[in-house]
Amino acid sequence: MSSEILSTLGQSQEETEFYTPMPAGYRKGHHKYVIVVGTVMSGLGKGIFSSSLAKLLQDKGMRVTPIKMEGYYNIDSGTLNPYRHGEVFVLDDGMETDMDLGTYERLLDQELSASNFCTNGQIFSIVLKKEREGSYLGRDVQTIPHVTGEVKLKLRELAIKADADVIFVEVGGTVGDYENAVYLEACRQLAYEEGEASVVFVALTYVLEPGTLGEQKSKAAQLGIKRLMEMGIMPSIIACRATNPVNEKVRQKISMYANVPMRRVVSMHDVESIYLVPEALREAGIDREVLTLLDLHDRVDQRQEDQARTKWRWFVDRIGRAQKHVTIGVTGKYTALRDAYASIIKAVEHCGVHLGCDVQLKWIDTTTIDESNVARRLADCHGIIVPGGFGVRGTEGKIECIRHARESRVPYLGLCLGFQMAVIEYARNVCGMTGANSTEFDPQCATPVIDILPEQKKIEGLGGNMRLGGKDVEVKPGTMAARLFSNASRIRLRFRHRYEVDPQFIESLERHGLVFSGKHPTQPIMQIVELPQDVHPFFMGTQAHPELTSRPLRPQPMFMGFVQASIDFAHQHHQPQTQVV
Ligand code: GLN
Repeated sequence: MSSEILSTLGQSQEETEFYTPMPAGYRKGHHKYVIVVGTVMSGLGKGIFSSSLAKLLQDKGMRVTPIKMEGYYNIDSGTLNPYRHGEVFVLDDGMETDMDLGTYERLLDQELSASNFCTNGQIFSIVLKKEREGSYLGRDVQTIPHVTGEVKLKLRELAIKADADVIFVEVGGTVGDYENAVYLEACRQLAYEEGEASVVFVALTYVLEPGTLGEQKSKAAQLGIKRLMEMGIMPSIIACRATNPVNEKVRQKISMYANVPMRRVVSMHDVESIYLVPEALREAGIDREVLTLLDLHDRVDQRQEDQARTKWRWFVDRIGRAQKHVTIGVTGKYTALRDAYASIIKAVEHCGVHLGCDVQLKWIDTTTIDESNVARRLADCHGIIVPGGFGVRGTEGKIECIRHARESRVPYLGLCLGFQMAVIEYARNVCGMTGANSTEFDPQCATPVIDILPEQKKIEGLGGNMRLGGKDVEVKPGTMAARLFSNASRIRLRFRHRYEVDPQFIESLERHGLVFSGKHPTQPIMQIVELPQDVHPFFMGTQAHPELTSRPLRPQPMFMGFVQASIDFAHQHHQPQTQVV
């Protein structure tokens, strides 16, 4: 790498203050960048804004690709607690990322990879590795130009890999955070190097409306933007997040203090659904402003845009128009924080829109569920999901929920841990293996139907010992899984687990009626389980995380089958009974 770098610079490192490695084939001026930063506070929905804007350009026929830049020093999000950071989103290549990558995949209907996710940890490990390899020979390795140089390289490599017209760079956190300062400096340099009409900065800010005053105040927004300008970054577009539409006066103040014309200071007030954001940005004219700022008008394909908008409008027009209602119980350890289950919420929402059904999720803490109260606690549920999870807490309650679903013919969908718990429940209560359990919860259990994957046993340490990413699944013909996947013999699902069904119990489980309808194509790894439909209307579990691959216009088939079965269940059982908690 070092010799390539030096040759692109055409001079030795000692002679220059620049460190700007350019990947082979990079076309300056062809790849454009939209850099989205947040001021005032985090949690403004930078990912939603950025993906919505990216979608508008994608709809116009351009190739877009996003990247999320995280300030933390973890290499990936794999060891982060979902309670603090939201769910860990797994990409097809096995990269464990921030949940925002899920927003991008859903809105852009695109498969992303490790190149779309960057952490300070990744950058620093590259810097240290290159230092040892002698790539920076003769130089003391500095934040500027070396660390910033690696950040720019990562962005340009992505531009080439994705063959992107526009790269959407979302800088995590808020302007002023120490941990994101290197990213901002790298982006400033990028704008300087790429030249005119190549990089545009969008500042997402927040307009406060204190209840005691009853009016919107712009000062915090102004100060945040000022901070950005102190770093040498001039935003070209300012999106003002707020509860209510941002008034003209406040926009004028922000416009004047930030040197940004009024037409590029837009109100991004709360909307009913995130899927309305693309159209809201379009109506505010932001897409056209970006085209002008980046000189992209001649790359627009009008016909493609019309087609894309028609499809999208079909989806958006159905939001909030549902005629049917169902309640689905979700047993979740992190019941206090919905972000931990973001993809499940989205997958169910997609199905609800397609099936014309308003789906209410009821979060169930299983630590207090037992045989005596399970029927009462789940009385108003037309379907039950046991999602993924780690650790023993609440597992016995989950098994009770699954038993209730199986015996009372309530539609059931088990996701990863929910698949494993369904196998344990069946082993215990149908196959008579009373000591059945997972070695994750009871290493000494009499019948370890769920055990650690043989190939994972060899791997030491916490980070990186899971079976991760997209894997092929062979679907058994004639099963419900086959029907849901339109009789495809092979499908692809995403995984994140350490444990699996121990193959020695498969024969016995199947003899007692359990159907393993999805398996690994060559190894004895069970990936989908179900009960025949004459036994139960919908009882399915998967070792995978199908929620990760549901998209608004392409809802995930297992979720579709499950939500449809829940609608049928509600129809047969009329109104939900009154909620008893
Ligand atoms: N704890 C289980 C395992 O490691 C399930 C993991 C999950 O639900 N993602 O296999």
